[in-house]
Amino acid sequence: GLPLWLPKGATLRRVLEEYVREEEIAAGYQHVVTPHLGREELYRTSGHYPYYEEIMFPLMTVEGERYVLKPMNCPHHIRIYQHRPRSYRELPFRIAEFGTMYRYEPSGVLMGLTRVRGMTLNDAHIFCAEEHIESEVRRVLELPQKIYETLGLTDSKIVLALHDPKNRKKKYVDNPALWAKSEAALRTAADRANVPFFEAAGEAAFYGPKLDFQMFDAAGREFTVSTIQLDMLLPERFRLSFTDTAGEPGTPVLIHRAPIGTLERFVAFLIEHFRGAFPLWL
Ligand code: ZN
Repeated sequence: GLPLWLPKGATLRRVLEEYVREEEIAAGYQHVVTPHLGREELYRTSGHYPYYEEIMFPLMTVEGERYVLKPMNCPHHIRIYQHRPRSYRELPFRIAEFGTMYRYEPSGVLMGLTRVRGMTLNDAHIFCAEEHIESEVRRVLELPQKIYETLGLTDSKIVLALHDPKNRKKKYVDNPALWAKSEAALRTAADRANVPFFEAAGEAAFYGPKLDFQMFDAAGREFTVSTIQLDMLLPERFRLSFTDTAGEPGTPVLIHRAPIGTLERFVAFLIEHFRGAFPLWL
């Protein structure tokens, strides 16, 4: 579950990474770098405990402080947004990173590069005002489509993943008003972006709804390559703010997105899809 990339694999990975970074810069993202460890407190504030506890590696204590191997990059990117006061003029604020994360997967489910314990996500977080949701979702939908087209991947579909109200207390943040608002906003944005999508209940992230790009591998199995998540919860938990046009404090909305998902899974997918015969440039 902890892959070692040999020279040819590392070259493939580097070429993909360079291409995606270029597209991100053209799309208005700024790249950042964050550490592999984080303080436990960050993940308590974010609410990843208790939802994520079972997929996190055990805590480690150093000089009385408790640290985790980060299971995701979001809290670290939030700290970058928070490092100074923000004005509406800076929004949408888009930061991206090929961020390495660690998740505990039981040994029985580990598989090739598809299910691993250390992975690098083509991650980004967009902090914006509510009135930007529609235009940002449209932009965020364009990026994976452009990347897939370049790679010659044509067989994808988009799923709008919603929460399941019956299961709300167990799997999701229990805040019906927040779900109603964020699901309506994402559905409207997807409608106006004029892309076909299917709806699936019970597939949302614990903090919000998402739009997933599903693809089929060579064996016909469907899996998620790319995800776009609309989050109104973490901005509240971390008390994020910006000064709005009237000089009043406002709360930003957070969009999480990953056009090619993790490099491990994406490369696994490409190997199967092209059966090893990659496009010449790759
Ligand atoms: Zn995130």
